[in-house]
Amino acid sequence: MSYFQRDFVAQSASVRVRFGPGTRHEIADELRRLGASRALVLSTPQQADAALGVAESIGALAAGVFTRAAMHTPVAVTEEAMRHVADIKADCLVAIGGGSTAGLGKAIAYRTDLPQIVVPTTYAGSEATPILGQTEKGRKTTLSDPKVQPEVILYDAELVTGLPVRMTVTSALNAIAHAAEALYARDRNPLSTALAVEGMRAFAAALPRVIADPADLDARGETLYGAWLCGTVLGQVGMALHHKLCHTLGGSFDLPHADTHAVLLPHAIAYNAAAVPELLAPVAAIFGGTEPGAALHAFATRMGAPMTLAELGLAEADLDRAADIATQNPYWNPAPVTREGLRDLLDAAYHGRAPRH
Ligand code: NAD
Repeated sequence: MSYFQRDFVAQSASVRVRFGPGTRHEIADELRRLGASRALVLSTPQQADAALGVAESIGALAAGVFTRAAMHTPVAVTEEAMRHVADIKADCLVAIGGGSTAGLGKAIAYRTDLPQIVVPTTYAGSEATPILGQTEKGRKTTLSDPKVQPEVILYDAELVTGLPVRMTVTSALNAIAHAAEALYARDRNPLSTALAVEGMRAFAAALPRVIADPADLDARGETLYGAWLCGTVLGQVGMALHHKLCHTLGGSFDLPHADTHAVLLPHAIAYNAAAVPELLAPVAAIFGGTEPGAALHAFATRMGAPMTLAELGLAEADLDRAADIATQNPYWNPAPVTREGLRDLLDAAYHGRAPRH
């Protein structure tokens, strides 16, 4: 199948990507390549050991460690990290972790233009985008800036073997969501579509093998490959209904990020499949079946993903308010976004009903 389009604009960031088990041991080499000698190593508190391990392995090239990265990049944490950057005269950032740690590195880079090396340990894909989401006074805002794009990404399959199985599944569905929405993005191009299809194919092939054996390095490597492609595509094209809904539920009801993606994805894709069935056909072809949303629902069920908004802690009484908030600020989507349509979608996601489309 050809993804050729008659008119398109394509733009890619200049990023150096290295793959392979043990690649985390190449950080010192990469720092020298960047001409850096005073790295600040970043992580969440939960992954402080990993950050300390990196600092130890790069020895004198490590000028400091900051282990307070948090979900949704709170500006207060960034400001604290900025003081640390100034104190130790950091000339490079090394972020080891998931989207939260990558987010802190990006927030510092946005303010300083310091180069970044990211060593991802989830499939969220933030390392591959110039996008930064930040939270201040309970409000999340998002920006896109070339300064934010990390210069080097080291994908090391050994680091994801320890990602708990539930997080593995929800993080993978978070990545798949970027690719699925990229298929109908208004600013898609043949390259973004090819990346999206290949990213989903990698997850469809490798995720069942990872679930069967979380320590399978080849399968873990292939899921990281999928994460790279899906993240890259997120950085290239705009998202629509699914990401907006996740944003609404995450922000207004404090639902967990990756889990919310996992539960909503089949329903959001089914909603749009009615409008653009031909653009979403690859989703059904990759995950099995004839209907894209139903195929994703069946795949997520087989992978043991959370399937209901109820189990994420949303109250049924909040569905009306969620539908109101989600229709407040209009945005582009391939299918018209109506209050009634979203209320039905949320009801199906709340109860975990399999979508028809
Ligand atoms: P996360 O980074 O918040 O990680 C969740 C928890 O799991 C953390 O405590 C983390 O330390 C831990 N963890 C990470 N990897 C682990 C591993 N291998 N083993 C054990 N524990 C591990 O979660 P995430 O889903 O990767 O990232 C979510 C955040 O990233 C959100 O804030 C989201 O908005 C953002 N994000 C941004 C972009 C972008 O392009 N800007 C893209 C995707 C996600």
